[in-house]
Amino acid sequence: GELIAVRRLTRRYGTAVTALEAIDLSIAEGELVAIVGPSGCGKSTLLRILAGLLPPSEGEASLAGRRIDGPRRDIGVVFQTPVLFPWRSILDNALLPVDVQGLGREKMRATAMELLKLVGLDGFEHQLPRQLSGGMQQRAALVRALIHDPSVLLMDEPFGALDAMTREAMNLELQRIWMASGTSRRKTVVFVTHSVGEAVFLADRVVVMSPRPGRIVDTLNVDFPRPRP
Ligand code: ADP
Ligand code: ADP
Repeated sequence: GELIAVRRLTRRYGTAVTALEAIDLSIAEGELVAIVGPSGCGKSTLLRILAGLLPPSEGEASLAGRRIDGPRRDIGVVFQTPVLFPWRSILDNALLPVDVQGLGREKMRATAMELLKLVGLDGFEHQLPRQLSGGMQQRAALVRALIHDPSVLLMDEPFGALDAMTREAMNLELQRIWMASGTSRRKTVVFVTHSVGEAVFLADRVVVMSPRPGRIVDTLNVDFPRPRP
């Protein structure tokens, strides 16, 4: 069934810029959706609204029937560049949401270690971010986004800042993670990318946007057979 509903969503910046104009979008539970389009078409704005980090000007976005009006635990977010605290170890960065919410660390530590292992960062948990490559830092940020086992994972050009080789490796890595997490409920994933190739490679559905004003102009289902959990 429908998990994320976007209805007549409009977002303006001041009076001059309409970043999104009356967007409608329905995302089913377990779907993997890519949002593509040229720079300035409103991809980041849409993602930030879905993440509860930015309010709409009109219309609304909801998750499981509840209006999204702030960040919430069941939505994990990964940004274009890994936002890690430089003085915290990889493990402590992964556990940041746990510390912020004042939850017990001991149980979550095991979860963090499991996820770090899943993304190939076991053995690096006591290192500082600067001791790791950009791709590894982004994987640590991914672990942090997944720490509360959110039903939704949002990613804004998660590998945009990486070189082409690392980027390809990360895409494969992501597929592996989705397959491995098939043990629990399959996550609903929405990610933004400039790259149509990347979108088609990873997603079940590609939503195409165009700028001035930001609108959805096309939706395509990617239904060639690929291994899935
Ligand atoms: P993207 O990779 O999404 O194209 P941009 O480089 O356009 O990102 O924007 C990077 C940051 O700058 C974002 O946080 C965005 O909100 C902000 N930004 C973009 N355009 C403007 C603008 N015209 N005025 C103020 N901030 C802007
Ligand atoms: P995309 O992610 O597709 O590049 P954005 O959502 O970053 O698009 O931006 C959509 C439009 O809104 C662009 O014209 C951008 O310049 C503008 N914009 C984004 N953030 C801001 C901001 N904080 N202030 C003013 N304009 C912004």
